[in-house]
Amino acid sequence: MVTFSAAVRPLISHLHRQLVRHGRSHRITPVRRCNLTACSSKYVLSQMHPMWQGPLAVPGGDRQSPIDIVVRKSVFDSKLKPLETEYDPQTCQQIWNNGYSFLVEYDDTTDKSTLKGGPLQDKFRLCQFHFHWGESNAWGSEHTVDRRLFPAELHLVHWNSDKYSLFEEAVMEDNGLAVIGVFLKVGKRHEGLQKLVDALPAIRHKDSIVEFTRFDPGCLLPANTDDYWTYHGSLTTPPLTESVTWIVMKQHIEVSHDQVRYTVCSTLKVDHKFCL
Ligand SMILES: [Zn+2]
Repeated sequence: MVTFSAAVRPLISHLHRQLVRHGRSHRITPVRRCNLTACSSKYVLSQMHPMWQGPLAVPGGDRQSPIDIVVRKSVFDSKLKPLETEYDPQTCQQIWNNGYSFLVEYDDTTDKSTLKGGPLQDKFRLCQFHFHWGESNAWGSEHTVDRRLFPAELHLVHWNSDKYSLFEEAVMEDNGLAVIGVFLKVGKRHEGLQKLVDALPAIRHKDSIVEFTRFDPGCLLPANTDDYWTYHGSLTTPPLTESVTWIVMKQHIEVSHDQVRYTVCSTLKVDHKFCL
């Protein structure tokens, strides 16, 4: 097993799905705008994401995500354990279009789909996963590796059910969330992803939600989950709370060009201008 702690260089993202369902930070915070110059040049040319329009109250900490992972500065940590995912496909409930992405949500009222091990001391429950895509395949991921962008990035979002009783509580607290990040590259068709692509026409319009069941999110993980970078970071959308243990897989998964473009441009008729 090879595990690393990532060297960090904060970037600001404006493409992240809003992880928080309710509420905002109660911390006393400064106000700032998204620093678009910190994002990729493609971002600068794009319309601002709705979450980033106007001044924002942010924690103002030094653990903001996403980051550029500088491989030569990452540090091997022999104390890190293998990840243990236990996903019950029966907990998959629905898929919905929030206007700029789609989410697959899981029943998180019990510990049926969980993540533990790795850098985590506690057990975390899966509540949803989503993707970040780009206008073109040249960009789209939130994290970068030695400044390299990937066409897309999957985020599997879990919350600490040992310490907290609800996602909404955990998201505002230290050690509240654990998010697995997986980079997507264009290559072979991905059968697991195809099940999602096939479901997307039913959520063509913003705010549409349909039942989506028996989907094992484990099929979207790379074959090797022992090699990862991990660091303590934040939500990448407001309220930017620094409550997230990030676990970014070193091995990517492959999806076909058609799967990426169909998903972004043909299926999701979202009301923003990222996908032309
Ligand atoms: Zn995300």
